Amino acid sequence: MVARVQDTDVLVIGAGAAGLVAALSAAPRRVAILSASDDGYGAATRLAQGGIAAAVGSNDSPQQHALDTLRAGHPENSVAAVDVLCHEAAAGIAYLSEHGVAFDRSAHAWCLHREAAHTQPRVLHANGDGTGACILAALQARCREAEHIDFLPPATAVRLLTGDDAIVGAQASDGAQLFSVRARDTVLATGGLGGLFWKTTNPLTSCGDGVAMALQAGAQCEHLEFVQFHPTALDIDADPLPLVTEALRGAGAYLVNDRDERFMRACHPLVDLAPRDVVARAIWRQNTLGRKVLLRIPADVAAALPVKFPALHALCARYRIDVAASGIPITPAAHYHMGGVAVDLLGRTSLPGLWAVGEVACNRVHGANRLASNSLLEAVVFGRRLGHALAERCRGGRAAGMARASAGEQLLTPPDHAIWTALRLAMWQHMGIVREPSGMQTALVTIRRCRALCKLEQSQLYGRLNLAEHMLLSALQRQISCGAHCVA
Ligand SMILES: Cc1cc2nc3c(=O)[nH]c(=O)nc-3n(C[C@H](O)[C@H](O)[C@H](O)COP(=O)(O)OP(=O)(O)OC[C@H]3O[C@@H](n4cnc5c(N)ncnc54)[C@H](O)[C@@H]3O)c2cc1C
Repeated sequence: MVARVQDTDVLVIGAGAAGLVAALSAAPRRVAILSASDDGYGAATRLAQGGIAAAVGSNDSPQQHALDTLRAGHPENSVAAVDVLCHEAAAGIAYLSEHGVAFDRSAHAWCLHREAAHTQPRVLHANGDGTGACILAALQARCREAEHIDFLPPATAVRLLTGDDAIVGAQASDGAQLFSVRARDTVLATGGLGGLFWKTTNPLTSCGDGVAMALQAGAQCEHLEFVQFHPTALDIDADPLPLVTEALRGAGAYLVNDRDERFMRACHPLVDLAPRDVVARAIWRQNTLGRKVLLRIPADVAAALPVKFPALHALCARYRIDVAASGIPITPAAHYHMGGVAVDLLGRTSLPGLWAVGEVACNRVHGANRLASNSLLEAVVFGRRLGHALAERCRGGRAAGMARASAGEQLLTPPDHAIWTALRLAMWQHMGIVREPSGMQTALVTIRRCRALCKLEQSQLYGRLNLAEHMLLSALQRQISCGAHCVA
């Protein structure tokens, strides 16, 4: 087979908020965007309902936002990264507005909402609970208009290309053929890794491929053990699981087990409004006792559902859930990865030519636990910084050095179903909400056994197994509970 090879100046892998902002900001560099799907369906950005945080209210300040972020992060955060995030947040919101995002407004000002663990109302919405979709649509439109950006046909990146002393692009599969894209600078913007877990709210392309490729190429990664679990995903036979908004509990819904016991009363003074990780652990404990968990919806809340929570109402109707009579079945699910490819405040990784931004990257801004609505903000703030850093390196010509990874030798085959299932179950059971050292050792054995069975052509699956092993080893090293990492 003759290998297809193409050259570009900057290659951005991933077309969520982080990748698109980085691509736009890198002008006048020539950018090619490579993404597993070109309609945004593979991007977690599209699913973000809660909103985007920024201290733009009259009683608020970047310092207060930073304090809240550090408190949530337990405090494993980089103070420098938090400072950048919170001080550049207003500029990030202005940037999105200029690029066509119509944030919800009252007569003279943006509507600001208060969310758990934020001490001020500072969360902006666009089209109500459609914030992520609005941001994605606006950025996609600007990227398609931009003369310096080309969208490559949908394809999955499978490995990074290594030159003599730098990363020089990536190898990808369009399902029929492998091809190489050589680039002077390569940006990983592939999102999170919730898909490695049996239960997740993430799109199924969020399986940590970016971190896996970076690990394989020898890049430094950190905080791999910090995974945030959302307490209330809809417990149905679907993959991924849809979110049940936490605002429902704010409106009066409450958690019960299948004996109708309000178990949260014994867990936290705030009962059903306790912090996300406390609620997730309480539900997990009920599940391990064999109890199912439901959200009970008082009659007035159920009656208001079509107006106040139209998306949830439609979802329950689709799955024939009689909300008023039976409540809403819920389960925790893997939701957000605080760790990733280690980067500095401009998105530079430990490998020359390789950059990372968004959920795939770790500049330690979230520490051990992310403050809600800070991740869309991170994608925008650090996407802009990375793009500007690339623009300053403006040089012409082709990628230096020859790619060492030979193209065309293997095709991307779908993951072996049995191995993929074993991996996701092991991660859910032993690397989940509450972790026991002996369980994590069991998972390590499973993962290593699976990797030994993995066929050579399954490079994507192999990379994911490798990543799972690194996550488990990081978790085993952290013997004391910290943020989202809870040791039994
Ligand atoms: C259900 C849900 C609700 C959320 N709500 C909020 C919220 O309200 N506020 C908030 O701040 N955050 C929220 N988050 C988190 C936030 O959406 C994400 O952290 C953020 O959008 C990540 O942006 P990103 O650009 O890094 O990744 P993504 O938006 O996930 O984009 C990743 C891109 O990489 C592509 N890709 C992945 N692997 C490959 C590969 N191997 N080859 C090629 N392309 C690849 C994908 O197709 C996609 O285009 C939510 C997340 C979920 C799942």
